[in-house]
Amino acid sequence: MKVFISATLRSFFGRSTTEEVQGNTVNEALKELRDRFPEVGKGLWDEKGELRSFIRIFAGEADWTDKNMHDTPVPSGSSLLLLPLIAGGAPEGGIISEVRRKQVSLDNAEVDQFSRHLLLREIGVKGQKKIKAARVAVIGAGALGGPVLQYLAAAGVGTLKIVDFDTVAVPNLQSQVIHGFRDIRRPKAASARDKVRAINRRTEVIAENIKVDASNVLSVIDGFDLVIDCTDNYQARYILNDACVICGIPLVYGAVYQYEGWVSIFNYQGGPCLRCLFPAPPEPGLVPTCAEGGTISPLSGIIGSIQATEALKLIIGIGEHLSGKLLRVDTLGLRSEVLEVRHRDDCQVCGSAPTIREPKNYDYEELCGLREDPAEEPVATIAPEDLARRIENGEPLTIVDVREPHERSILRFSGAIVIPIGQLARRQRELNPEHDTVFICKEGKRSILAVKTLREAGYAGPAYSLRGGLDAMKDIILSNEGGWI
Ligand SMILES: [Zn+2]
Repeated sequence: MKVFISATLRSFFGRSTTEEVQGNTVNEALKELRDRFPEVGKGLWDEKGELRSFIRIFAGEADWTDKNMHDTPVPSGSSLLLLPLIAGGAPEGGIISEVRRKQVSLDNAEVDQFSRHLLLREIGVKGQKKIKAARVAVIGAGALGGPVLQYLAAAGVGTLKIVDFDTVAVPNLQSQVIHGFRDIRRPKAASARDKVRAINRRTEVIAENIKVDASNVLSVIDGFDLVIDCTDNYQARYILNDACVICGIPLVYGAVYQYEGWVSIFNYQGGPCLRCLFPAPPEPGLVPTCAEGGTISPLSGIIGSIQATEALKLIIGIGEHLSGKLLRVDTLGLRSEVLEVRHRDDCQVCGSAPTIREPKNYDYEELCGLREDPAEEPVATIAPEDLARRIENGEPLTIVDVREPHERSILRFSGAIVIPIGQLARRQRELNPEHDTVFICKEGKRSILAVKTLREAGYAGPAYSLRGGLDAMKDIILSNEGGWI
């Protein structure tokens, strides 16, 4: 049987994309993988030996995450897919009521502008009026928000809200095609608003230059028919999901990582939500954000365009859609599949006895064990200037780089040895407990995890995390180019 490894988990499997196993049940397959890749253990299983809750297992396209199915032979010919979190049926009438549709009309100029929609039997004048009546909130005006906003404006959506707290920076231009060089340092919300107005001057645009959090999310989405999640972080995604369930607004979810993208519809007519799929976000370091992981330029265009298409289908009420399903697109393997997503009766927010009744900011670092536990000895850190000074003085020091290969090629640190976090326990003999060991990563978070992992493995020598990571040390490194690094 074949086991496909999702891109985000591959560092635990020696970069393998597919593994062939002898067993024909989930338990047999997982045991073989664990024997073959001992480092996988900590990433995929918790202390009690339970598979971590952010990983789902699919046999073919069916969801086999439920433990009760793990000793049942997988149908022959099916392959398994291990899928961690990164981020149907035809409805009658769509999400815009007849009353609201009848409140809008199309003038001659609009009939001309949208004539290619009116030609489509499924859309026609009725569908176009629904699009005009629709109020859609797009959270995030970056790589995914760009195509979503541009296509929804072009399609004739009557009201678009754009929410983003960030400003346009040069590296954004590689994938955020809604912004240009002239927009550098402008708020993304304002830059996107100008583009939307240029595409369709009749669309009413509300641009909000704010960060969505638990205190404002309900007022941000209140009164909207549909919310589109184009954010890039777990905190915002879970707050949006919970708020949409509480307000009863469907959510079109999209996420990208490197070459892989996902789209789903959550909270639509009793369908599942994000927490039904992944009750909790993954641990830090295991699944990098796209700022750390990078994405190929057109991927956000593909995924954002599918999100916009799904949004229009919900508004008009046509076609099959992605409620209860997850579309996964792998652009590198040029492969896509639609996976089943089940509603969970025990879901914390949309189940029969919900424990989450209002949006909450959660401390992602605490949730992921990065925040210092007062009962635990704190992880010692070293400031970038101190590390530079100690290197220049030639002090005996071991520097361990725990970044991914592609991150190392962007900013080199040649004085360091490379050990992935997953291999630290096994390779601790490469460290000298007589000397200080300093762990480095991009932002100074994975390096804390590295020190903790090493301690758990029984290493007694002094170990430090570079405070703020290489991001904080970038200027020193670049000014030393050709010097000690
Ligand atoms: Zn749910």
